[in-house]
Amino acid sequence: MPTIASPPTPLHRIPGPDACRVCGTPGLTTELVRDPFICGVGEDAVELTADVPVHTCSACDLSYTGEEAAMRKHEAVCRHLGLLTPGEIRDIRKGYEMSQAAFARTTGFGEATVARWERGEVMQNVSSDRYLRLLRYPTVFLLLKSLAEGGGRAPKGALGVPNGLSLESAEQFRDSGAGFSVRGLAAA
Ligand SMILES: [Zn+2]
Repeated sequence: MPTIASPPTPLHRIPGPDACRVCGTPGLTTELVRDPFICGVGEDAVELTADVPVHTCSACDLSYTGEEAAMRKHEAVCRHLGLLTPGEIRDIRKGYEMSQAAFARTTGFGEATVARWERGEVMQNVSSDRYLRLLRYPTVFLLLKSLAEGGGRAPKGALGVPNGLSLESAEQFRDSGAGFSVRGLAAA
């Protein structure tokens, strides 16, 4: 269990902002740096690595990172934990051409929650992550949309569920041992 991360490795120059955030002097240089960091504490601690932009100002002799670096590290943590990254969540929503508000209405997630996930401020839990992954399948998303718009009733014939089966009777259906068949799901 590492407690101190390996030293960073500068990779190469990349385009970045011109002026220093601290002193405002132009001529800021930006470098991509491979930056190992420790994730977790105690037994769970692991060293992860993210390539982050580091800005250096020669006028005030200072190097600093910004939001993009924080996002790159957040993504590394998400991948380590097996969770969708903020960009992947946004891609699912945008794939259905939905605003955060519309996506929240359809999924039942809070709009503020969706926004925080996409900004990388908060990480979704495992159950939300699996729910989001299911939404990558257009068939599943269409079924969900019908459920959201239809007050809990599944659309007719969807996913092999008998016509007009409600969520409650779907439970009974399952308990009866009849079983569901999920067909026609294409990988996203
Ligand atoms: Zn400066």
